[in-house]
Amino acid sequence: MIYLKTEEEIELLRKANLLVSATLAEIAKHVKPGVSTRQLDTLAEQFIRDHGAIPTFKGFPASFKDADPFPASLCTSVNECVVHGIPTDEPLRDGDIVSVDCGTLLNGFCGDSAYTFCVGEVSEEVKGLLRATKDSLYKAIETALPGRRIGDIGYAVQSHCEPLGYGVVREFVGHGIGREMHEDPAVPNYGRPGTGKQLKNGLCIAIEPMITLGSPEIGLLPDQWSVITRDRKPAAHFEHTIAIHNGKADILSTFDIIEEIEGHLY
Ligand code: MG
Ligand code: MG
Repeated sequence: MIYLKTEEEIELLRKANLLVSATLAEIAKHVKPGVSTRQLDTLAEQFIRDHGAIPTFKGFPASFKDADPFPASLCTSVNECVVHGIPTDEPLRDGDIVSVDCGTLLNGFCGDSAYTFCVGEVSEEVKGLLRATKDSLYKAIETALPGRRIGDIGYAVQSHCEPLGYGVVREFVGHGIGREMHEDPAVPNYGRPGTGKQLKNGLCIAIEPMITLGSPEIGLLPDQWSVITRDRKPAAHFEHTIAIHNGKADILSTFDIIEEIEGHLY
């Protein structure tokens, strides 16, 4: 069931998403060698609660039977971890990349956005992966216009990344978003143009390419959450929440305040 949002609801979604972006900008100040992802998580949870919101990831039910709910406010996915990494006490090292995915619930509406940060000096090869992943996200957003289809979004990501030699993860996808963090429709990062559900004014979705330096095959760590590449090569993940309305794609989250701090490192 797809819920199309009113203009009022879109403005509430924007507030929840701008809080996610502000949280990620706060995290950007602290991502450096020697800092642990648990320290980042503690900062994020405090920041979110100080702004009157709830971190939606904390306690999020697992999709696997008998697995524990997600224990933290951020997903921190380092290097070969693609998504859903659990924060740990392990310090980040120079040359690592870390995808930080953050979700908020503010005034009944959800924010969801992710950014992959460089820790210290990262190799040119990995910077290329980050650049391609982020570029594919914006190419996907450009196609998300009323009348186009879900398959056009996936095709935009896939047709940008695969010719560059990168892998597109198939098992995890973007999603509708609103009062629930995950609503219909699913938004895959692959697809054929002109196929799938038609995009309409009022549709709000999170688009989140998960792109690998090597093979797109993935596995799950014994913690039942952390998704890793089977070949242990790095993966990148960027996510924006957008609203399709007034005939265009309106990006409700923003990377601008993150990149003011992060600088354009790639
Ligand atoms: Mg997310
Ligand atoms: Mg998401």
